[in-house]
Amino acid sequence: MSPTIALIAHDGKKDDMVRFARAHYDLLAAFQLIGTGTTGERITQATGLPVTRMLSGPMGGDAQIAARVAEGQVAAVIFLVDPLYAHPHEPDIQGLLRICNVYNVPLATNEATGLAVLRYVTIDGGR
Ligand code: PGA
Repeated sequence: MSPTIALIAHDGKKDDMVRFARAHYDLLAAFQLIGTGTTGERITQATGLPVTRMLSGPMGGDAQIAARVAEGQVAAVIFLVDPLYAHPHEPDIQGLLRICNVYNVPLATNEATGLAVLRYVTIDGGR
């Protein structure tokens, strides 16, 4: 089975994530995709890429993705964070970032790094 990439975008970054997914459709199509609820829905609607949807981020979706990272099921996380707004689920966001660092899983928090990570896991074949 192909490696899994997790995709998450805060509300202020969802349009950017959709554009990112359209622009890099061919790269993303080679992976299993999981995402938080609304982000996953937006990506699938816009591109047709299948995304296994977790709960919405504020309802625990980031924590679900963190658990999958901890279980070794995720090759990379692309999480477009909105640095200009506070989020009610900030503890879960920090938890996901922390778990990626604990397990040395590639983590991108902006589009530029997202593309770098996507190219890396494409070449490297994930973990
Ligand atoms: P969402 O969650 O994709 O369900 O909006 C993302 C987040 O805000 O963490």
